Amino acid sequence: APAEQDRAPRLSVIGTGYLGATHAACMSELGFEVLGVDVDPEKIARLSRGEVPFHEPGLPELLRTHVESGRLRFTTDVAEAARWADVHFVGVGTPQKVGESGADLRYVDAALASLAAAIDRDALIVGKSTVPVGTARRLAAMVRRVRAEAGLPGEVELAWNPEFLREGFAVKDTLTPDRLVIGTDGTRAEPVLRRVYARQLAADTPWISTDLETAELVKVAANAFLATKISFINAFSEITEAVGGDIGTLADAIGHDARIGRRFLNAGVGFGGGCLPKDIRALQARVSELGLDRTMRFLAEVDDINLRRRDRVVDLAVQVLSAARDAGRGEAAAYGGKTTGSGVEVLRGARIAVLGVTFKPDSDDVRDSPALDVANRLYTAGADVRVHDPEGNANAAARFPRLDYVDSLEEAVEGAELTLLLTEWQAFREMDPAAVGALVDARLLIDGRNVLDVAAWAEHGWTVVGLGHRFDP
Ligand code: NAD
Repeated sequence: APAEQDRAPRLSVIGTGYLGATHAACMSELGFEVLGVDVDPEKIARLSRGEVPFHEPGLPELLRTHVESGRLRFTTDVAEAARWADVHFVGVGTPQKVGESGADLRYVDAALASLAAAIDRDALIVGKSTVPVGTARRLAAMVRRVRAEAGLPGEVELAWNPEFLREGFAVKDTLTPDRLVIGTDGTRAEPVLRRVYARQLAADTPWISTDLETAELVKVAANAFLATKISFINAFSEITEAVGGDIGTLADAIGHDARIGRRFLNAGVGFGGGCLPKDIRALQARVSELGLDRTMRFLAEVDDINLRRRDRVVDLAVQVLSAARDAGRGEAAAYGGKTTGSGVEVLRGARIAVLGVTFKPDSDDVRDSPALDVANRLYTAGADVRVHDPEGNANAAARFPRLDYVDSLEEAVEGAELTLLLTEWQAFREMDPAAVGALVDARLLIDGRNVLDVAAWAEHGWTVVGLGHRFDP
């Protein structure tokens, strides 16, 4: 009926994690009726109460508003979504396979299979998850096969619309993205998606309409580039750590070249999270499957450089503590300035405050977090590690329950012999060196993100060592 076609499309979002819950709330903010679906009943119960199960600025307000108005609902029943919605966005996880570098596609496969078997009308399935190139075409064939075998009525088309949101800015990035990429293999998806994203189009958001393979590749290409940029500056860190020099000035200077750009050139403990590490690994695995073994080999180096940053923080902790102990015993002078306790045994029993465990500020996400990895390594080496993160303590404790998590910065640094700043939360950037100095046992700090003003802290008697800087005991 014409009336049916004129109404706004009803949307479902399958998988309501960081991506999906944000997408669902933002689509209702745009005026659509939305049904969120997840296999995790606990998550669905919380979302249905208007509660965001993770930390994302601005999202709780949106979710509450639209759950209360009834425009946004949640269910664990995919069949309900299949009967009701015109467009199904799929944002389930695509984690790294355990013990392998490729992506684990079982959740995407399961989500698509359950949808395909339950849709009994015309509909559009729009993948948003990050997937290896070729996945969408394979899934489209699977959807056709499942539907033909079951003899289900209706036309179902599959499109891919990769997501570029950043945790911490997820709402803004979803409502006002830098660009929209729409990969299709048919004619029905594009006009429907133009209607769904009408507000973004009206705001002149670049609209890239392409095939399925390009759409899949745009996402992994963007992440591979960003990871490379971070590891590029961190490789230079290894040089400045050896010979001296200032990595921040180097980044500023090359960043002035508009072709290079200053963003994502911050030397530090490296990248982590649920996307960059697994995406560069999945890309290498996928191109190898395609017989292009050499093509993405440089990403293995990008990954290695990134992981070596974590080793560097642990080494630096050993050096800083050894130097402090030698100085305390007067041995540095007696042995011609050489430190004697250069082994990791210096970590045993050392009281170390770790500030930050999430992979980045303004998120509670600790997936593949460099900060949490470093904290755990120090603990494993015998250090007495006290951890504080404004939002990440609970997720970190679920992963590494034996670390000592505390609720405040003050508790974390109280009596510390060494303090590590590993995630650049605003509260840590703004720490008062005098106040923190009054609580610690020793004014020694490793700035894993190069965010503190070393000179200002030195005025209060602190030794602050940044990554990418030479440490001279
Ligand atoms: P997540 O783990 O937070 O969420 C995934 C959700 O999918 C979980 O709630 C899980 O229960 C649910 N799920 C699994 N199987 C399901 C099924 N068959 N039916 C319904 N729900 C199911 O993951 P995320 O961070 O939101 O990432 C999801 C995808 O988005 C990944 O491919 C990721 O690479 C991509 N992505 C994430 C971000 C980000 O910043 N988090 C940004 C861009 C792209």
